[in-house]
Amino acid sequence: MNNTPLLYRVEAHDPAGHRLKVTLTIADPDPQGQQVSLPAWIPGSYLIRDFSRQIESFTARDAQRTRSVSKVDNHTWHIAPCTGTLTIQYVVYAWDLSVRGAHVDQTHAFFNGTSVFLRVHGQESLPCTVELAPPKGINGWRVYTSLPPAPGRAATGRDGFGRYLAPDYDALIDHPVEMGTGLSVRFSAHGAPHEMVFTDAPADIDLARIAADVQRICEAQIAFFEPRTKRAPFLDSANRYVFMTQVTPSGYGGLEHRASTALMAARKDLPVRGQAQMTDGYRTFLGLVSHEYFHTWHVKRIKPQAFVPYDLTRENLTRLLWVFEGFTSYYDDLFLVRAGVIDEAAYLRLLSKTITQVHATPGRLKQSVAESSFDAWTRYYKQDENSPNALVSYYTKGSLVALGLDLLIRRESEGRKSLDDVMHLLWRRYGRDFYQGRPAGVAEDAMAELILDATGVDTKRFLSRYVDGCADVPLDDLLPLAGFALEWKTAAQPSLGARLRKAGEGVQIAAVLEGSSAHRAGLSALDTIMAIDGLRVDSPAMVEAAVERSRAGATLTFHVFRNDILHVFEVRLLGNTHREAIVHRQP
Ligand code: ZN
Repeated sequence: MNNTPLLYRVEAHDPAGHRLKVTLTIADPDPQGQQVSLPAWIPGSYLIRDFSRQIESFTARDAQRTRSVSKVDNHTWHIAPCTGTLTIQYVVYAWDLSVRGAHVDQTHAFFNGTSVFLRVHGQESLPCTVELAPPKGINGWRVYTSLPPAPGRAATGRDGFGRYLAPDYDALIDHPVEMGTGLSVRFSAHGAPHEMVFTDAPADIDLARIAADVQRICEAQIAFFEPRTKRAPFLDSANRYVFMTQVTPSGYGGLEHRASTALMAARKDLPVRGQAQMTDGYRTFLGLVSHEYFHTWHVKRIKPQAFVPYDLTRENLTRLLWVFEGFTSYYDDLFLVRAGVIDEAAYLRLLSKTITQVHATPGRLKQSVAESSFDAWTRYYKQDENSPNALVSYYTKGSLVALGLDLLIRRESEGRKSLDDVMHLLWRRYGRDFYQGRPAGVAEDAMAELILDATGVDTKRFLSRYVDGCADVPLDDLLPLAGFALEWKTAAQPSLGARLRKAGEGVQIAAVLEGSSAHRAGLSALDTIMAIDGLRVDSPAMVEAAVERSRAGATLTFHVFRNDILHVFEVRLLGNTHREAIVHRQP
């Protein structure tokens, strides 16, 4: 039956109460007493999440009797020394509808191993069997996961319930599981099996169209990294790649794994049968798919040294997220054009939007992308109303750094080399054998040398200005050399410089941009605007209209509540500083 030293049995025993029951059998527990723990965070999402707080009813017993259990720290349990096999049983409360946690009800169950599988200290490198049991009292569910089935013909049934096998703990927590009645579609890309499952999808979702588009993206990326063999990277640890998408009213996000990804998509973004046009929403969904799939190479195999191995008990700090998230954000949209899913004009619109977005963030002049990477755990992942003024995104600015590097390398090498050569060297040096060889990661200071090796181009000055420094990537200078031009448009109307949202009777200020009309007048985040020039406003659009009707230099009287006290602010409107970037091909 169980030939591995560790067996995890998982059952949705109380779907209505959002609970999974886990039984962990340890064949050879530590004679001094066994310690077990849950990860404090999930790789790919850089925030301490304390998954252990969702564990209920923790018990342990050996061949003879119940053993005493005590907590050692927030994540770790100690079980008293025992004789023979140790069996631990616990319940996981699973009601977090995100790509990072676990979510169970009568319609489906989704979980990440980081929420469910205890790490058996001292036995992390041993193989683990996972037994997925059908939910109690519910029929008709199917299992979707990239976990490899256990050896033996009958390990898993046709519905996917049964036994799976992970070679070690690191693999065990890197294959999320979806169970339910979602709509699914399969395709193969360069001969490698892929499966997509959509939970809560519209009944008329156009699976054939989605599969055809995603297949093109997957094939383009596989051929990019392995032009000769066209071997899909995940075949080193799984027999298929699985896209598991939770459909929600307006959700968006993804989390990458070695042979799968968990996605959140908005219902309106997914195409339905009979709808042929490429909408902004569908383009966004395909961009997300492209992004997470690219991570299969870049961050799941090519990794920063700081992640090799992951320390699951604490923050793992690296200054290189601009490489791992920034480059990925550059290549995600680029692969939509390379795969022929969108045309060049659509790509340039996406690029223009990113440039506009980065330049609208005052924080880009205070924080570098290297600092933003290092501080991700306490700043990018813990954003507040001042974040636009204090932070830069290693995703968006990182993607502009990648574009700048790409253009610089093409220029300096007279078109013989590009950022593609950097990716190829990263792949050969760090990624290709990651799960088979002796794993190594990219050192914190390795990029300049690596780019030089890959392309012969010295980028030290570029990196010190735009990665370690806060200067704007000089795309105005670099784009024309590749045949593109960057133009800036400024709206004629003045601007308030505040982000607004509807709140009860008035309009709440979500954020005030530094240096703006709102900032200079003393308006603040969390103020509720009730009236402008004596007229009531009750929607962000009304505030914007009042500002846009005015001329630069005009003064508007704002009545606002701050902590239940009415304040009056005279807001002198400055000329619009918001610039819109437009990239186009040079005539
Ligand atoms: Zn990413």
